[in-house]
Amino acid sequence: MKAENELPFIDKIKIFSAELRRLNQKRKEIKKEQGKSKPLNLKKNEKLEVYNKTKGTCHICGSDLIPEKFSITSSLIESCSTNNNLPACKSCKRLFDNYLPDEIKWILKIGLWAKTQIEFETDLGKIIASEIIEQEKYRESKRKSPRNPIDIDISNYPVKNNQIIGSKKVEYKRIKEVLYWSYANLSMAYKAVNDKSDRYGRLHYIIRKKLFNGLMSGNMNVRSMFHDEKSKLNSDKCCVYCGKTRMLQIDHIIPQNKGGKDSGENLVWACRKCNASKNDIDLMEWYHRKNEFPPIQVLRNYMKLVIQYCIENELMEKDLDTSGEINLPFSIEYIPLDFPQPNRLIKRFEINRNTL
Ligand SMILES: [Zn+2]
Ligand SMILES: [Zn+2]
Repeated sequence: MKAENELPFIDKIKIFSAELRRLNQKRKEIKKEQGKSKPLNLKKNEKLEVYNKTKGTCHICGSDLIPEKFSITSSLIESCSTNNNLPACKSCKRLFDNYLPDEIKWILKIGLWAKTQIEFETDLGKIIASEIIEQEKYRESKRKSPRNPIDIDISNYPVKNNQIIGSKKVEYKRIKEVLYWSYANLSMAYKAVNDKSDRYGRLHYIIRKKLFNGLMSGNMNVRSMFHDEKSKLNSDKCCVYCGKTRMLQIDHIIPQNKGGKDSGENLVWACRKCNASKNDIDLMEWYHRKNEFPPIQVLRNYMKLVIQYCIENELMEKDLDTSGEINLPFSIEYIPLDFPQPNRLIKRFEINRNTL
């Protein structure tokens, strides 16, 4: 893919935000297409060859690198042949591997933090964007041949975390709203599956609404739900993700390196295949990549852990806009907010039941 050599001229705040979301969306599509990237696995002499390309400095920021311990960038776009590999420091690598070239240009120009603010159209983001735009308009006017501002269809790139629920548009402002809305849906789905309903009915929607309001106001808590539904996940020996009963290993729902505990609630049995495929990817992201909706029981365990973590660490009231700056042990963007109809869940549930 060819990246534009310079950033486009933008003269409107809305276009600025939408352009950043467009790049974000494009990056996600590319990542989805590529699937999991393979580790490089270069031999010692190949590594040295890469190191010598820049005489041992980071090819992005120029800092000196240690020969035995340096990173190698492999761009999201370019293929991973040795010729493309270049030595880099750890922080540059993180940026280089995770963002598209045009996004990196924006990050270098305005900073990652400002980019996020503008992308999510926060109040602060709008202020920053308008200041940048004023500067850019001036700079553009001083050019020999001023360019035209770009124009894109904003409606193709809506702001994330705004969900349409029924006819009412609900805005998620805090971590709390996302987690409790998902949990309330889970409860609704659980009831519908138990009722053997094909579709959600009035009663199910009432359950969801009551629980959501109860959780938000603090009159209900997560433990009161599923009270007598003891988790079978921890006692029955089969893979919680696919139901296989052989070659089982212990898996951490929230990976240990992200702060997941070594306690019973966080431990499940998983077959070697699922464990290896999931690796350190967030559980919900893993299902998302497979284009599957997580089984209710798996989701239940996960949501309980995640909510517990956020309550214990006083994160529930935190704004979603700043969630990128908090080191969450899970990916909040993959928390399911839209649940499939129960007939699609039932199958999954029964498969799970039979194998349990
Ligand atoms: Zn660097
Ligand atoms: Zn499995």
